[in-house]
Amino acid sequence: MLGSLGLVIPVRDDLRVLEGYHSPQVDVDVRLNTNESPLSPPDAFRDALAAELSRIEWHRYPDRAATELRRAIADWHGVDPSMVFAANGSNEVLQTILLTYAGAGRRVATFEPTYQMHAQIARVVGSEVVEGERNADFTLDPDELRRVVDEYDPHVTFLTSPNNPTGLVEPSERIGELLDVTNGLVVADEAYAQFADWSALELLDDDRPLVVTRTFSKTWSMAGVRLGYAIGPAWFVDELEKVVLPYHLDAVKQLAGRVALRFVDDMNERVRLIVDERERLSTTMRGMPIDVTPSGANFILFRPTSIGGRDLWQQLLDRSILVRDCSGWPRLADCLRVTVGTPDENDAFITALKEILT
Ligand code: PMP
Repeated sequence: MLGSLGLVIPVRDDLRVLEGYHSPQVDVDVRLNTNESPLSPPDAFRDALAAELSRIEWHRYPDRAATELRRAIADWHGVDPSMVFAANGSNEVLQTILLTYAGAGRRVATFEPTYQMHAQIARVVGSEVVEGERNADFTLDPDELRRVVDEYDPHVTFLTSPNNPTGLVEPSERIGELLDVTNGLVVADEAYAQFADWSALELLDDDRPLVVTRTFSKTWSMAGVRLGYAIGPAWFVDELEKVVLPYHLDAVKQLAGRVALRFVDDMNERVRLIVDERERLSTTMRGMPIDVTPSGANFILFRPTSIGGRDLWQQLLDRSILVRDCSGWPRLADCLRVTVGTPDENDAFITALKEILT
């Protein structure tokens, strides 16, 4: 009834300015816009999962501590299970971290351009977002890092490596420098780290406020399942467990994650294929009127130099190829981001680029 009178209940004052996170899902032949794996998981994984599903106790709540899943993740990374926190995609991991360590009256630092959800979730949980800027080539200047920490004393600072949407891998010195100066938590978002050549996992230490977040969405071909995790000191995981909802991780997902970890070799093979394809794409694109940002991820940020970015995006879409249009984002004028697809999808993308640009 109230709706028919046109009454709209106002949201929290600090949420009114938020625009939400948009990544259009358009029906096209070649979808290269959301950084998923272009390959479905191995058949053997699906068979093994199907066989084990029958053993799930559907009428019982799942294991609240996700004991076996955490043990499997911990074994894979060579850490103790007490250092693993799992949730519904790394986005929920990030949200739980921010609910625990940020929130009203606290500050969260990001270095732009970077993954938009860091600032978005930080604001949703009521924190103030303080932004540092990257250089024109998207690298991060250590002086800028220090400036932001000195000026704002952030409670949580994000570094994304490889960074989204730029694809650049953050050098380990940058994370070390940040840890040297900050009084807050450092979150290394490593959603794409398996495509890169180093990981901040190497720097983890019980006495350091460093945590690393990972996801099953990319390399594990499991974006549809929504599973991510953080690895960090046990004291950090203990705090997150107090904040997250009870039984947040359903039994099917816990099982899917465990079964996936039996297929590490298949996953590594997929990573190799994507990395090879990424290098093929980058090399080919460098031979065209395009600025290509070096990528350590499963996507490439690029800027056409002979036509506008939005124009190129539309012309690709006219050929049923969807890439991410970043051209309207601050500091990313004319930039587009392409996810590395299957060899056939990448061929279609290259053929279209050639048609449009040459
Ligand atoms: N971090 C980064 C840097 C990402 O790009 C993404 C996905 N776009 C995520 C986290 C979230 O991944 P998911 O929630 O699927 O695990």
